[in-house]
Amino acid sequence: MAVRQVTAARPLRPIDVNPSQRTAVIAYVALGANLGDAAQTVRDALTALGRTPGIRLVQASSLYRTAPIDSSGPDYINAVAEVATTLSAPDLLTALQAMENGAGRERPYRNAPRTLDLDLLLYGSARIDSPALTVPHPRMWERAFVLMPLHEMAPGLVSDEMLNAVSGQAIQRM
Ligand code: ATP
Ligand code: CA
Ligand code: CA
Repeated sequence: MAVRQVTAARPLRPIDVNPSQRTAVIAYVALGANLGDAAQTVRDALTALGRTPGIRLVQASSLYRTAPIDSSGPDYINAVAEVATTLSAPDLLTALQAMENGAGRERPYRNAPRTLDLDLLLYGSARIDSPALTVPHPRMWERAFVLMPLHEMAPGLVSDEMLNAVSGQAIQRM
């Protein structure tokens, strides 16, 4: 019986790549909470991030406490996570928003107190400017509660000048 010759698979175009086979991208996610047991919410969110399909938690910063800026309510607990992800940036944002919703996030008004806020800071070296997603996060450089934990994990990403620019903001490493 003739054996059909197996032809070499043609290289897959990027669009054909199964997300689980895509090369992982290093991304940084800012976590913040200021309602309920905010520290526990942030710890739980770090665990949940690492358990999300397509996301591996590489490292997490310490937790930091800050008084609300442009916001109200109790102090914020913040942290930054470094993840390796095979998700596209929009899919990663969708996963982050699902986690926020799972934590009971509501948006009654801009900068309202929140049970959990997850912002995508950096996605590899990507620059994204779509209606739903801007990367790098456009306000990350103004915020000590982002730059301090990011610097703790990835000092090469945050220069002394950047840290100096936010040094007036009260923040306490927990
Ligand atoms: P800020 O973005 O100043 O930290 P916020 O986190 O309180 O404010 P949200 O209400 O959580 O703002 O998000 C508003 C919208 O921002 C979201 O619906 C989302 O589509 C959009 N967005 C744009 N870029 C990003 C990003 N890099 N990470 C998370 N959300 C983003
Ligand atoms: Ca935010
Ligand atoms: Ca947000």
